[in-house]
Amino acid sequence: MKAYTALEVVELLEDLPRVKMGFFPTPFHRLNNLSDDYGVDIFIKREDMSGPSSFGGNKVRKIEYIVGEAKEQGVDTLITVGGYQSNAALQLAQYSNINQLKCIAVLGDTKNEKDPEERKGNLLLNSMLGTEIHLVHRDEPKGNYDMNPLWAKVDRKVNALIQDNEAEGHKVMNVPVGCTSPAGWVAYMEVFAEVTSQAEALGEEIDYIFHANGSAGSLPGMIVGKLLTGSKTKIISINNRRYGPGEVVGEQDIFDRVKYLFNKFEIEPPSDDEIWAEINIDQAFLGNGYGAPTKEGSLAIIEVAKKEGLFLDPVYTGKSFSGLLGYIQSGKIPKGSKVCYIHTGGTGGIFAGTQAFGPELIAHIYK
Ligand SMILES: *Cc1c(COP(=O)(O)O)cnc(C)c1O
Repeated sequence: MKAYTALEVVELLEDLPRVKMGFFPTPFHRLNNLSDDYGVDIFIKREDMSGPSSFGGNKVRKIEYIVGEAKEQGVDTLITVGGYQSNAALQLAQYSNINQLKCIAVLGDTKNEKDPEERKGNLLLNSMLGTEIHLVHRDEPKGNYDMNPLWAKVDRKVNALIQDNEAEGHKVMNVPVGCTSPAGWVAYMEVFAEVTSQAEALGEEIDYIFHANGSAGSLPGMIVGKLLTGSKTKIISINNRRYGPGEVVGEQDIFDRVKYLFNKFEIEPPSDDEIWAEINIDQAFLGNGYGAPTKEGSLAIIEVAKKEGLFLDPVYTGKSFSGLLGYIQSGKIPKGSKVCYIHTGGTGGIFAGTQAFGPELIAHIYK
């Protein structure tokens, strides 16, 4: 396979339906204090600054393609699902407003909050946008944390809303959880290309990319970017959700999505073994599961705030950054390496209330 340049990777995307809305390329800079302390050059890619507000994140790039397809198909209503604090639903709603599309968010009560008296964090922001929000309560008794009945109820609500809206003459697009629809899988090819070019402009070559992986809507594109360019950069994905029966996508899905993308661009894919070698999922920093705080995650949030004046969130970026620090501390990443951490956003979730924080972070705040 011929090696693509970063620019050629970006050029592959040029003919796809897309509405350009984000602030790209997002900034890329070195974290000087952390780099000095750990003896590893740590750069950060600011996908949290993707726009249009200060509550951006990694869904924005996917949404550019989703809205592109929606416009092409004459869609006037987007519907999506998530938890009350969904970052994806917020980002979709922001860009729906810009494009004057109706946005419906069906949000599942994962924390058993019912109809909270005060709306906070992303739920507050999403309400301010005027999004049509439907809160779906849990039926199962408190303490039963099997979320599958809740998500089944959310799906029933989505189907009912689609029927109602179509009956009213609307054309509706159903956007999957995490805005992870095939139209958006291409989006993070460009992030890989941007990181490569931005590092090159500083005279650097990145050895490792670290990022938070959830619904695996971002990772496949980055892997394709890496394989196309033949870059030496190794992508390490710190998982924020557990793989398993009834839960989100696993390695096989990521592999399939990589294949799907090569097929989409009619490029002969590398061998299966070469693709598998690029899928490095680590669940060791997940703790008790999605949204459950970990000690390491809390300590990472504190350390990054103190040393770099930067905010990480308890659900995604705190944990994934703790993964990066863990790899450095255990020597899995040798001293002198050059690392890029992708800040995937989640800032609004910080304001959802300190009950989502771990005890170390609480103690740090109220000391
Ligand atoms: C959604 C999200 C992720 C995970 O991205 P996927 O494309 O779903 O794998 C990571 N970090 C934040 C802040 C997110 O909102």
